[in-house]
Amino acid sequence: MSKVGVIGGGPAGCLAACTAALWSNDVTLIERNGKIGRKLLITGKGRCNVTNACPDIKGFISNVPVNGRFLYSGLYKFMTYDTMTLFEELGVPLKVERGDRVFPVSDKSSDIVDALYGYLKRSGVRVIFDTRVTDIKHDNNRFQVVCEGDKTFFFDRLILATGGASYGATGSTGDGYAFARALGHTVVELSPSLVPIESDDSCCKEMQGLSLKNVGIRILANRTGRTVYSDFGEMLFTHFGVSGPTILSATSHIRSVSPGQYTLFIDLKPALTEEQLDFRILRDFSEQTNKDFKNSLGNLLPSKMIPVIVERSGIDPAKKVNQITKSERLALVCLLKNFRIELTRLRPLSEAIVTSGGIDTKEIDPKTMESKLVPGLYFAGEIIDVDAYTGGFNLQIAFTTGFVAGNSQKDSRGERMFNIAIDGPGGAGKSSISKAVSKELGFIYVDTGALYRAVGLYCLRNGIKTDDTEAVTAALENVAVDFTYIDGEQRVTLNGEDVSEDIRLPEASMAASNVSAIPAVREFLLELQRKIAREKDVLMDGRDIGTVILPDAQLKIFLTASPEVRAKRRYDELIAKGKEVNFDDVLRELKERDWQDSHRETAPLKQADDAVLVDTSDMTFDEVKETIIRLYEERKNG
Ligand code: C5P
Repeated sequence: MSKVGVIGGGPAGCLAACTAALWSNDVTLIERNGKIGRKLLITGKGRCNVTNACPDIKGFISNVPVNGRFLYSGLYKFMTYDTMTLFEELGVPLKVERGDRVFPVSDKSSDIVDALYGYLKRSGVRVIFDTRVTDIKHDNNRFQVVCEGDKTFFFDRLILATGGASYGATGSTGDGYAFARALGHTVVELSPSLVPIESDDSCCKEMQGLSLKNVGIRILANRTGRTVYSDFGEMLFTHFGVSGPTILSATSHIRSVSPGQYTLFIDLKPALTEEQLDFRILRDFSEQTNKDFKNSLGNLLPSKMIPVIVERSGIDPAKKVNQITKSERLALVCLLKNFRIELTRLRPLSEAIVTSGGIDTKEIDPKTMESKLVPGLYFAGEIIDVDAYTGGFNLQIAFTTGFVAGNSQKDSRGERMFNIAIDGPGGAGKSSISKAVSKELGFIYVDTGALYRAVGLYCLRNGIKTDDTEAVTAALENVAVDFTYIDGEQRVTLNGEDVSEDIRLPEASMAASNVSAIPAVREFLLELQRKIAREKDVLMDGRDIGTVILPDAQLKIFLTASPEVRAKRRYDELIAKGKEVNFDDVLRELKERDWQDSHRETAPLKQADDAVLVDTSDMTFDEVKETIIRLYEERKNG
């Protein structure tokens, strides 16, 4: 049992706290307001768009333009339907509306907030209200949380769920960023998202308060003439410019707006083509031939808009409609289909629903939400640099990351990591497939061939014959090989030097194969391989992973293809790199290495009894990848 602190009583903090408590931790949640979920209460216009009923992870991630992939493994653990099940279990019936948006049947966000509070109480979380954290220190593996009024708390683990810097009045003032920065984290520049837009066009002020339903909007980048966003639905004029659902959504597609950069076009009659609209206007005019133009638009437009349209049309307001010329009429049609407003800037962060930017995702382990810099520190919710479009996705991200951070509070020493072992002959595509799969699953990829290659390279460089068992064994004393990660990319070091490039030279392949037949070399690497697999969820590829190194791996795959197919792939690769090679030579080298790897005495290449055979000869890269991911899901779900 650990003492776990959670800072922030929003959706992410609440779920993190309840989930951490499930694992019998002593959990304390600190909230600066007198209630939890202040911001949650006002989202979705007080109705709370609690999630999006999107059923699949890929579809979900396509709605997360900033760092969506970071959520992959989290969504495996806690998806949209988990959120829905949770709230239904907590006694809040839900309904799905247009665009798969999910709301409480009652349309009351307070039902969601009350359910979360009930969940906190039931889980035994200690909730401390009206307490603002002023400082967080980390030393001796402990977190010291200092609050206003000289209150101090000590925790073994800390989950920062302080939200963004938007909607300051609700308590989201961005304090969490400062704490994270002080603890060594990078904060990606903050900017408002899901925020109204200002315009200097006086028409907005003139029409303030007017809400347009069922209009088409389009935002054009002036410099390139490209449409950067288009949508259909509701918008609103305000004293400063424009707002409403379609406008807010647009701002999650544009990070900033400066004067002269973007123009908004409103299609006031999106259901009608220009011809149909013209016909409709002709009909309206013919029914009121003697009216002044300015009094003739009542059927077509809301009254607040009429003076603006009349003025922009350039038609004399006092002109009788039967005297309006065809070209005047067509200009009017064009104006109604393309009502333009020059945009000047976004409203400030304090008015944004969502803060774009936040803790750099590169510094957070996506499988646990733990900081890669400060062990025991976790992040959840909007404080992380991930943003989604409107429609319930942002709240789901809060729930997902909150759940994952909370779930990581189970005592990891007792828990087994998930290990995937992929063995097979050279050229079967193991490493490129493994890289792609582990990236998608958020696993650490461990290329064990690279370790043998590094040992082989050492011998080559130092004139040690790679088939001289004694000499190679003796040389091991002076060899240190290891993995490091640069920007998430695995690099292999030999005595501290990054040799990731050099070990790919053709001569290193044969050298690796030779040294790998020496028992002392295999023993030398075994501990390192097992250690990584004990500590992390890994996907490890090689020749003996499923048979010798990780005999308990939860998923084993034997990846192969015919020698010809493998040789052809390698040949194409080398040619593409501009190497001058002969296909027959490539095939011979490959067969020689196959023979050597599968006929040596120690740990020969062979399919483990419980491995799944995947023959890639007739499969595309994506098919292989999907197959492995599917196998993983099946195994994981038991
Ligand atoms: O996978 P890669 O082609 O980089 O491996 C280089 C060599 O290292 C292989 O030919 C094999 O002899 C050896 N190896 C091994 N056991 C592993 C991984 C690689 O024997 N687990």
